[in-house]
Amino acid sequence: MENLSTRIRTRFAPSPTGFIHLGNLRSALYPWAFARSKGGDFILRIEDTDQERSSQEAVDVIIEGLHWLGLDIDEGPFYQMQRLERYQATLKILLESGLAYPCYMSEDELNALREKQIANKEKPRYNGTWRPEPGKSLPKIPEGVKPVIRFKNPQEGIVVWKDAVKGVISISNEELDDLVIARPDGTPTYNFCVVVDDLDMQITHVIRGDDHINNTPRQINIIHALGGQVPVYGHLPTVLNEQGEKMSKRNGAMSVRDYQHAGYLPEAILNYLARLGWSHGDAEVFTKEQFVQWFDLDSLGKSPAQFSPEKLIWLNHHYIQHADSEHLAEQTIPFAKKEGIIFLGNQVQAGPEFVKVVDLLKARANTLIEIAQGAKLFYMSAPQHDLQSPEFKTNVSETIIPAIKEFTESLKNTDGTKESIAAAMKEILTKHGIKMPALAMPIRYLMFATTQTPAIDAMISIIGIEEVIKRLSKV
Ligand code: GLU
Repeated sequence: MENLSTRIRTRFAPSPTGFIHLGNLRSALYPWAFARSKGGDFILRIEDTDQERSSQEAVDVIIEGLHWLGLDIDEGPFYQMQRLERYQATLKILLESGLAYPCYMSEDELNALREKQIANKEKPRYNGTWRPEPGKSLPKIPEGVKPVIRFKNPQEGIVVWKDAVKGVISISNEELDDLVIARPDGTPTYNFCVVVDDLDMQITHVIRGDDHINNTPRQINIIHALGGQVPVYGHLPTVLNEQGEKMSKRNGAMSVRDYQHAGYLPEAILNYLARLGWSHGDAEVFTKEQFVQWFDLDSLGKSPAQFSPEKLIWLNHHYIQHADSEHLAEQTIPFAKKEGIIFLGNQVQAGPEFVKVVDLLKARANTLIEIAQGAKLFYMSAPQHDLQSPEFKTNVSETIIPAIKEFTESLKNTDGTKESIAAAMKEILTKHGIKMPALAMPIRYLMFATTQTPAIDAMISIIGIEEVIKRLSKV
């Protein structure tokens, strides 16, 4: 095995077995940030040896998700299924050096052993029947049985590591039995592949979910057997949902794609995930650059983080509100198209400039979908009102019509800016001794057939005086 370089190298090693929720991507964010903050490398490794459960679709979601969040990778994706020869070669080395051995115990024998141990209130474990020892004679090799390969785990001593998140963790080798590292068909098992990969890829820091803590002592022992250098481990506490359960599809977690389709900004998700188990003073809102600059393993939280959809939506709103309108408009186009607004390239086919509409709507929107829905008003054709209908009469009363007419007239003397329109409105309000809603509500209704719209002066300015005059002149 090669020596580890001093350059920081981290990895994200997902198993592409279906559902990738935000908690999963957090396990990519921290190793990525650590590599970036130290000028190191971030590697993507796809752990696809569970062929039955792995899918290309899940790999695509992972790669797209990383790309969307801007977590750039320096090397990979490496696929474990493409490294089988390498695992075989390493298995051979362990077998030849007596650090691993074939075990011919059948499934039935193993089950019987386990049942006996459970009945005796012992922890179920392999009993070392086929483990070679000096002076020990092994059973006769049964015919026609393909063996598994077991790692010859040390039987004495303890495995200790200083976990970057959890502190010192130690476990006695007596607790660990001889792990199966290759199945009867010769395919290597999970823990073995991880070790070979982490060594080959010269990973210096393994930052991963704490569901892997139990694997770590086994992996460390195999690393020692291979003469490799043990990386620093940091095990991240689980992400819990609002109910305090482990996040999963079953209890309603959304995939990273779902968030994208629901109109979240990647900046908001990144910021949110960063805080889900890491902190920097009381900073809640920060850029990706600040996050990288501030990131350190010392500030990772030790207790489980709890997912809060409200906080995520708050952050999304924050990022939308402060986004550059041009950029935001570009991001909103796919959602606007879904709402039926027609674009030719990046421009709306007809109606006000899309960026102006987005610029107005961003102050109140929580998601890009909300902007797109709000934008529809600006592009729909003028409503056809039945002036005699009770609904119309309720919304546009006889008594307000003179004020509307005067306002329509005065619009001709404005320069079309929001400010001049506001001034014109104010004049009419004063003259008629009425309050803003008394005039704004019927105007909204006349223009859009709804009274729920953003600020009326801004709306009129964006739609354009000519079109507004046309709509208001219906009364
Ligand atoms: N493939 C493992 C998982 O998705 C991660 C293994 C590791 O990070 O060591 O849970």
